[in-house]
Amino acid sequence: QKEERERLYRLNAFAAEFYKKILWQTKTGEKAVAYLEARGITRATAEKFGLGYAPPQWRALVGLFRKKGVPLDEAEKAGLVCGGAEGYYDRFRDRLLFPITDPRGRVIGFGGRILGEGQPKYLNSPETVLYQKSRSLYGLAEAREGIRRQGRVIIVEGYMDVIQAHQHGIDEVVASSGTALTPEQVRLLKRYSDKVFIAYDADAAGEAATIRGLDLLAAAGAEVRVVRLPAGEDPDSLLKKEGAAGFRRYVAESVDLFTFKLAYILEKADLATPTGKAQAVQRVFPLLTQMQNEIAREAYLKQTAAAVGVSEASIYDQWRIYKYNLRKNKQRLDIKNNQRHTNDIAPARRRQPDALAGEKELLPLERE
Ligand code: ATP
Ligand code: MN
Ligand code: MN
Ligand code: MN
Repeated sequence: QKEERERLYRLNAFAAEFYKKILWQTKTGEKAVAYLEARGITRATAEKFGLGYAPPQWRALVGLFRKKGVPLDEAEKAGLVCGGAEGYYDRFRDRLLFPITDPRGRVIGFGGRILGEGQPKYLNSPETVLYQKSRSLYGLAEAREGIRRQGRVIIVEGYMDVIQAHQHGIDEVVASSGTALTPEQVRLLKRYSDKVFIAYDADAAGEAATIRGLDLLAAAGAEVRVVRLPAGEDPDSLLKKEGAAGFRRYVAESVDLFTFKLAYILEKADLATPTGKAQAVQRVFPLLTQMQNEIAREAYLKQTAAAVGVSEASIYDQWRIYKYNLRKNKQRLDIKNNQRHTNDIAPARRRQPDALAGEKELLPLERE
């Protein structure tokens, strides 16, 4: 087993070298070099991350492996070739390649971007003995030093976001690579820092992934903050527009978990009407019940009152009633159902129809 892993590491390292050579030393690679230039990535940055280019041929790597006497079934186990004995061919063709490494910097797989438009935009290595998508964080080897120095880690979505950030001197950045953060990624991250900033794309997918990642990180005991970028931007595009100082400003203006969720609830609320305000407040209360710290809770109640536009006195009043009803209903409330309502701010689409259904029985009807 151990020997097999070592062999697969060697094949990945060999392939990474091959793809680098194609990128920098051949005529074939010129269009990938031009692509990098168009995206504002310098040669130094590309080399730091070991970028390469897979040529368009179907059997470039296969041919090389044959010449070297490398068993192709093993190359297939490494995720580098496909097709089986019926006819092996290269997995990656005509793509800019981002080697994915383990925390020590050994190549375990690749992410490949199409040059320009096309589907799929990114093609990744399959799950292998070495590469499990849910356990890997892109750029961790390069970011370890920066994370330690800055005492925090910034999670972004994509490869380009990571390398553009490093190029701008922001080096405490890793990518969850598209998927929402997984528990394994959270565990890995926490080995390096307890202070985690989420800086996902400012689009619907990024927002959904942020919400899912937040609770996971908070539950793991991390101090989480959310970096909110201008609509339509991702860290890569923002850095190109506003530079490192601009990006750092958004990081400095990041918000905590509660503030992020409050904003999300208020976005969906109709604050122009009294019932809309009352409903919004009732949706915020579940967030406050999880809070252990009474002083923090008081601060957040004030923040909610100000944001919704009601007096502090009346929000405290409602909060007391809410807590009273919560206690009273405790036995009747199925714990699982309760957690769903306190933890979950699912996208409005799914939540809307029964948004208040579970909370109805908690609505303030009786006083103590
Ligand atoms: P670019 O700036 O090159 O267009 P991006 O990183 O902004 O790319 P997103 O669509 O925001 O692209 O996706 C974020 C990340 O999600 C990618 O970097 C990649 O890791 C992953 N990803 C995106 N599309 C795919 C796909 N089709 N298959 C696998 N992974 C993908
Ligand atoms: Mn995205
Ligand atoms: Mn993006
Ligand atoms: Mn992008």
